[in-house]
Order: sequence, then structure tokens, then C-alpha cells
Amino acid sequence: MIDTHCHLDDPAYSEDFEAVLSAQKAGGVERILVPGVDAANIEAVLDVCRRSDGYLLPAIGLHPENIGADWEEQLATIRERLFASDAPYIAVGEVGLDYHTDISYKQEQTEAFRCQLRWSQEKGLPVMVHSRDATEDCFSVLREVNEEASSAGLPEIRAVMHCFSGSNETAQRIVDMGLYLGIGGVITFKNCKLREHLHNIPLERLVLETDAPYMTPVPYRGKRNESRYMTYVTDVLSEVYGVSPQEIDRQTTANAKTLFGIA
Ligand SMILES: [Zn+2]
Repeated sequence: MIDTHCHLDDPAYSEDFEAVLSAQKAGGVERILVPGVDAANIEAVLDVCRRSDGYLLPAIGLHPENIGADWEEQLATIRERLFASDAPYIAVGEVGLDYHTDISYKQEQTEAFRCQLRWSQEKGLPVMVHSRDATEDCFSVLREVNEEASSAGLPEIRAVMHCFSGSNETAQRIVDMGLYLGIGGVITFKNCKLREHLHNIPLERLVLETDAPYMTPVPYRGKRNESRYMTYVTDVLSEVYGVSPQEIDRQTTANAKTLFGIA
């Protein structure tokens, strides 16, 4: 299994970080991708990745919920780090739009998202997209940047819609754009609608994730999440697709390697 979205720089892991890493390795987790969320956590992300000896892979980005009055300064810092000659980043993320709790920076969110998508195109890196209560706007920014890319002779955006829990129609549109769905603990929750329609989406378009320390799957819901608990996600996906959990593991691992260029 590869966890394509895990905040291991979160203070929730600072006390037992080494033990947490060993437990994930022992639990069958091959690699873990650690997204950035703002300029302030750049060092923390790099620090945990360095301490992991290549087991953790860093990303960098300005999360829409962290966009405030200083958003332009934050973006400038992120740009400088992303374009440094020794930049170790495997992806741009997490970036996107979030209208759930605060829309006072809606315009700035859109600008920051567009800007970071353009950088991912310039760098040839995949993107971790966070979209909450903003589906249509998210699609329109993605489309706009794709159109720019195609007229500049650049390839289309490669991205995962992280923590996906939307409708069948939204899932289809994501796949039609050539993007991936990040599936995590939500699918283990009772009454999760994804279980009813996800079989319409080819398994080749799914990657696993945790969004740890959040979104902990049943039966550990409410506790700190860890990448090894993705086995509860593969169990549900095994029922949804009618194939073994091993096949879910094999295919989603291959997908993550393709999307993020992991050897
Ligand atoms: Zn996240």
C-alpha cells in the first residue's frame, strides 16, 4: 500500500515518530506522501522526510484554508522553494478550494489555486487537490489551466482529488479529465454513498490515502489515524469491486507509482 496523503509532520506524531514509522512499515505500507499546507510547515515536512531515509516523500503547497491576508508572501516563499535547484518535491499540494467554513478569501483562493497549478505544469509535477463545497469552481480552474497548457504545448494536469466522497457524476467527471480519486477512511463509514457507486469508476483511477491524523477508518474512528489502517479501506474496496484486498493493494500501489513517478 502507498499512502498518498498523510500529515506525518503533525504534532500528533511528534512524541512517538520513530515508532510510528516502524509500525507503518511492519503494517505493509510501502511509501507515504506528506503534503505541505502553507509556508510555515515547509521545514516540518522536510524534517520528517529527512528522518525517514526516503520512506516519506514531501510535497509543497498552500492549502485553501490557510489563505489569509499574507497569502501572496506565502506563495512567494513556496514558489522559491519549489523552483530551487535541489527541490526534493514529488508533488504540488495540497492546493485547491474550500468554501466550507470561510469564503472571505474566495477570490484569493482561486488565484492561489490557479497559480500553483501553473507551477505544477512548469515543473512537470502531479498535484494533490483539496476541494470542499467548491466542485464547479474547482473544475473550471482545472479546465482553464489545462487549456493554457495545451496551447503552450504542455501536457495536461496530472492530479488526485484528495479525500474524495462526492457523487457518481462528479467521480465520472474527474475520471474524464484523466485525474485520480483519493480514497480513504470515509468509505468505511456507515451510510457512505461512495460504496454504492464507486464500482462505476475503474480501479485504475483510484489511489489510497489517509489524510492522517484525521479521517480515521472504522473501527478506529475518533482515534489518531495511521497509514497501516488503510487495510480497512482496502477491505471495503474489495467488497465494492468484487476482487481480493491483495488486488486492491496491487492496483492502487501501481496507480500511485504511475501518478507520482515513484520507482
Ligand atoms: Zn490533507
